[in-house]
Amino acid sequence: DNIYDILIVGAGPIGIACGIEAKKNNLSHIILEKGCLVNSLYNYPINMSFFSTSERLEIGDTPFVTTNPKPKRAEALEYYRRVERKFQLNCHLFEEVNIIRKAEGIFHVNSSKGNYMARQVIIATGFYDIPMYLNVPGEDLPKVRHYYDDPHYYANQKVVVVGASNSSIDAALETYRKGAEVTLIVRGPEISPRVKYWVRPDIDNRIAFGEVKAYFNSNITNITEEEVEIETAEGTIHLKNDFVLALTGYRPNFTFLRKIGVEVPDAAPCIPVHNPETMETNVEGLYLAGVVCGGLNTHLWFIENSRVHANLIILDILKKNLAS
Ligand code: FAD
Repeated sequence: DNIYDILIVGAGPIGIACGIEAKKNNLSHIILEKGCLVNSLYNYPINMSFFSTSERLEIGDTPFVTTNPKPKRAEALEYYRRVERKFQLNCHLFEEVNIIRKAEGIFHVNSSKGNYMARQVIIATGFYDIPMYLNVPGEDLPKVRHYYDDPHYYANQKVVVVGASNSSIDAALETYRKGAEVTLIVRGPEISPRVKYWVRPDIDNRIAFGEVKAYFNSNITNITEEEVEIETAEGTIHLKNDFVLALTGYRPNFTFLRKIGVEVPDAAPCIPVHNPETMETNVEGLYLAGVVCGGLNTHLWFIENSRVHANLIILDILKKNLAS
């Protein structure tokens, strides 16, 4: 039976970086991805620009050429697709990993399409599949969205945007510019300091001029077909409303991690147990790579500072192979 040296779960930028490192070091590999190639990036807002410059998104020592100061989503899709082809990775798309079990030193992996064996496994599953829910009545109405794609859809509509970070601020500004009547609901007293520095003056001015209405220290408490209820510092208000964009962040799939034996503390920030020098988890031979390893601290890791995980992991695997 074929036993891969490394099985990688997730074909995001970091899963691909791990595949490249494996290939460069003559370790056999397979990547299983539940969606399309770089599925999270594919599902980002259509017009989104990265906050990183292109060289910081590079993997496999391959230049990411663009004349934009910050690359756009479409350019990143093109880049990672070309890199994956360049290195001829063994990438199986639309194949979800269900369960991973270890027996006698070998990982047995069951996916939606088959079964595989591997000596090492790398989990590079990111955090973009599970939204942080508001947990308020009406959240399951079709007008409530946890992912935002294209502003045109919201033209002439009354849109409530929940959140104060990059996703929500981008969505508020874009939909405002396509003629939506935008109300921003912010739990804390201010817009997040992590909002891209070149976007910040734009949202501050829109709020100052009353073009985007903002409620700070406020929470959305109920959503109906026609209205939203908001608890503000000045009391409860009701707004007529067509759509709610609840862009309050995302989190890794802790259920999946625990199911495959990775210890995840119950207390926030729920950082899955791993050695930061090797990225190995409490399960020997099972590694974490990319943004999944930040737990609920999803802003700690991004492409530019987690692509190095690929090198750390392959180095550890090579060292172990030498020792055995
Ligand atoms: P992901 O890209 O999320 O890849 C994980 C993959 O695993 C996904 O394709 C998913 O479908 C797959 N997967 C999950 N579960 C399974 C399973 N059970 N079986 C098979 N496959 C599975 N970072 C930057 O460095 N610069 C930026 O400018 C930047 N901008 C961002 C903008 C937005 C809107 C968001 C949300 C994030 C941004 N980030 C940025 C963060 C960046 O997206 C992440 O750093 C990056 O996607 C992480 O790569 P990853 O490979 O770790 O995870």
